[in-house]
Amino acid sequence: MNPLHWPVRMHIASVGVSKFCFLFSLAFCGLLLLLIPAFQPPTRQVDLPQPRPQVRSASSGPSHHARVPAASVHAGETDSATWRNRSSAGQGGSIENEVVRTDNHNPKRGTDSKRGALPGGQGGGRSGSKSRDLLELRDIFIAVKTTRKYHKSRLELLIKTWISQAKEQTYIFTDGEDKELRMRTGANIINTNCSAAHTRQALCCKMSVEYDKFIESQKKWFCHVDDDNYVILPSLLQLLSSYHHSQDVYLGRPSLDHPIEAAERVKSDGSVSVKFWFATGGAGFCISRGLALKMSPWASLGNFISTAEKIRLPDDCTIGYIIEALLEVTLTHTHLFHSHLENLQKLPTDTVLEQVTLSYGGFENRRNVVSIVGGFSLAEDPTRFKTVHCLLYADTDWCPKLKPHHKN
Ligand code: UDP
Ligand code: MN
Repeated sequence: MNPLHWPVRMHIASVGVSKFCFLFSLAFCGLLLLLIPAFQPPTRQVDLPQPRPQVRSASSGPSHHARVPAASVHAGETDSATWRNRSSAGQGGSIENEVVRTDNHNPKRGTDSKRGALPGGQGGGRSGSKSRDLLELRDIFIAVKTTRKYHKSRLELLIKTWISQAKEQTYIFTDGEDKELRMRTGANIINTNCSAAHTRQALCCKMSVEYDKFIESQKKWFCHVDDDNYVILPSLLQLLSSYHHSQDVYLGRPSLDHPIEAAERVKSDGSVSVKFWFATGGAGFCISRGLALKMSPWASLGNFISTAEKIRLPDDCTIGYIIEALLEVTLTHTHLFHSHLENLQKLPTDTVLEQVTLSYGGFENRRNVVSIVGGFSLAEDPTRFKTVHCLLYADTDWCPKLKPHHKN
């Protein structure tokens, strides 16, 4: 190589290098511009309870559930009647005194009722669910509220039926010792030592223990039911699989067809009122762990009782108050939960097994039970819970064996 050519070459080379630098920095800037959206912080969307996409078969039941109004007038009427009963049973100020006014408008609701009413319990969805961390039954904490006098007449039926399929994660909260029942059935029975009265204080005392036990359990979902509820476990699992336990999720059936309005005595002195929806405890409701943890200042270690005392409302209303009014998380309305305050006979027979909870009405008045036909007559199975159970779990030893089907 001729050394004389070096300066020329170097000159050419340096021009080349600066050109290359220029082009390289242009490309680098372009790349940066492209990457800017990727560095943006995630949106608040993450916090909202978005049902996971589920592939449902065309014949997957009544999708109109997703569009029906939040609660039927019928349910609203009967529920408010019970609500009055409960308040009169409680001591101190009655609920009527506490509720300032009710109306049908809730500005917070928006499209939530549609989203929330997604019928997660409708058939055909499970196989299509694309959830990465699959929810299992053992991830759900199920609290059953009962009282000593109903151990025989109500609880035994539940232990024999649905609780037998979810023994490990079902906790029975009662108010009196019953070692015999615990020994014989092997159920998780927790004596809350709360009063056995049907007062607001006694019921809130039980709910407070339920909450603390759930937090302790490390499970992903808290579901509460009464001792006159049948829980259809596959439907419950399917419904909860539509959400993530770290989202803020409060699922249940509204007691009324409008939010209630009560004097605000937690954040202010009671001179202002607050409107909120609540899920009726008699139909059962579920709360995600993420949301339950946020409730802690007003719900844990006895705080639930003092919150309920401040607003003077029953346990299920207090739950709604903490979630909707204090935490500003909306109730996701679902019609898959049922109490005996609605006409259970009206539930279409072919959808009964797709519901999440069922109930039965008082025998002394009118027989309010789901209409379902199976191995037991109404006399043998007045609540219809045994019939439902045998349709769900046909190989249970006490279920009638299916007779071979003969064509006439
Ligand atoms: N309950 C209770 N203590 C009582 C009476 C009832 O803990 O003194 C419980 C009962 O076990 C049930 C719930 O409260 O889980 C609702 O009771 P019930 O079904 O009798 O009343 P309703 O559904 O009409 O409010
Ligand atoms: Mn009841």
